Amino acid sequence: MSISQWTAEKDELIRVSSHFYHKGWMVGTSGNLSVRVAPDTFLITASGRPKGMLGDEDLVSVKGLYELPGPSGNGRKPSAEVSIHQAIYSELREANAVFHIHSVESNIVSEWASDHSVLLPPLEMIKGLGVKDPSLGYRIDVLENHLDVSRIALDLKRLFAQDQVFNEFHLPAFLIRHHGLTVWGNDVLEAFHRIELLEYVFRFMVAMGPSGSTPPMAGFH
Ligand SMILES: [Zn+2]
Repeated sequence: MSISQWTAEKDELIRVSSHFYHKGWMVGTSGNLSVRVAPDTFLITASGRPKGMLGDEDLVSVKGLYELPGPSGNGRKPSAEVSIHQAIYSELREANAVFHIHSVESNIVSEWASDHSVLLPPLEMIKGLGVKDPSLGYRIDVLENHLDVSRIALDLKRLFAQDQVFNEFHLPAFLIRHHGLTVWGNDVLEAFHRIELLEYVFRFMVAMGPSGSTPPMAGFH
């Protein structure tokens, strides 16, 4: 299939990118979005492009989930964080869209990690991540940030391998400490919903504070 036939997918990513930009989650050129268009091929936002005003030419195709992509036909390079998307698509068949944003709240929450994860509050909203009973106490994984992004991708693959060994339920999302949130879904709409609800949960957590309870109001003891 030629890239010119992926117009609908490109339009979706451009719309989502603009929405996230206006939320303050993809400020400047930060963050990256992708969608799988064939078993071994995905479209991803190009490196260094303004996320509030992407055009068709700012989506580039990456073929080969295990290899670094070559230059695209239009001269644009894939996001510098493409290896994270490759790791997810190659390890998880159910992932067909991957969104990565740099929000303030996700970075604050990432500071509260202990044992490489953060406990999420038992909010009803968490059900949107595939959780049946939010009160069971689900944790979101927090990976260390590395200047060499391929090291983050390697850590992610190790995490997926661990989850398979221990047969644990893992959320379709993870944090990179002091960097941002990554979410995947079966399609663009599912990934979109998941990132919005997780950002809601993070806003709630930031309002409550690291101890999980609101600070006492002045004058009340
Ligand atoms: Zn990033």
